[in-house]
Amino acid sequence: MKLIHDHSAPDDAARRRAVPPVICYPVEGLARPDMAPFRAARAGWTKVAEVLVPARKARCFAVGAGQFFRITSVEGPQVGDLNLWSAVDLRERFYSGKTRALHGTHLSTGDRMWSSFPFLRPMALITDDALDWYGFDDFGGAVHDVIGTRCDPYTHNLLSGGGQYHHCCHSNLTCALADWTGLPLREAEGHVHYVLNVFMCTGFTRDTGQYFMKASPVRPGDYLEFFAEIDLVGGLSACPGGDCSAEHSSDAARCHPLLVEVFEPVAPPSGWVAPVVNGYDRSHGR
Ligand SMILES: [Zn+2]
Repeated sequence: MKLIHDHSAPDDAARRRAVPPVICYPVEGLARPDMAPFRAARAGWTKVAEVLVPARKARCFAVGAGQFFRITSVEGPQVGDLNLWSAVDLRERFYSGKTRALHGTHLSTGDRMWSSFPFLRPMALITDDALDWYGFDDFGGAVHDVIGTRCDPYTHNLLSGGGQYHHCCHSNLTCALADWTGLPLREAEGHVHYVLNVFMCTGFTRDTGQYFMKASPVRPGDYLEFFAEIDLVGGLSACPGGDCSAEHSSDAARCHPLLVEVFEPVAPPSGWVAPVVNGYDRSHGR
């Protein structure tokens, strides 16, 4: 007789495990952007803004719809945590979970950053990635993930037995958004969300499925480039983990600044149309 807690594999376990996976969201219904007009639109563009994000700090920046922005490694290997908000409504913000479901665990050229419900439209399109050569390494690691959350002082407190560390990306982004908007700190904190981990090299261990990080392959001069589909406010934190080769939530890692540059093209990419908010009627069947 089987004990109630005996979860030994059933006779057909192998057959059940052998069922092939299906892609959750076949993206054939999403037109893959033709990148040529976006590349062409760079010719003769003008740099209209530049922000140097200091090590272990964050800064906000504005990018208009139809403009490009680049995040560039300067001085040394450094990862960045990126938040995006609609410039007209902070409730519309980057939705990393849905972006992951649509594009996979790590983003590169041709992938879009999608916004939260009920908006669910492209906020930005990645138009160039200097690290696109990296792919997936033998550990299952890749660059620019949408699986991590952002380093934060609450998890640090939990895991360190009560430690107080104030320069996690979560706190940095909170302070940067408070400075940018004039919102009180606690109100600004509520708008900080799951990030795109720019330049960070991450994956899941094959044996235990744990989230891992390893030294970023980024070097000074490498960049990730975006096209803004709507008017954006960006927030970028130069993570206290530096290149994330060892740890974060401390002042031990070597950290470097990150450069954000905003470019105005001579003309919008041909064929580009600013995306409207999602077409679902929000009746939910009632
Ligand atoms: Zn961080």
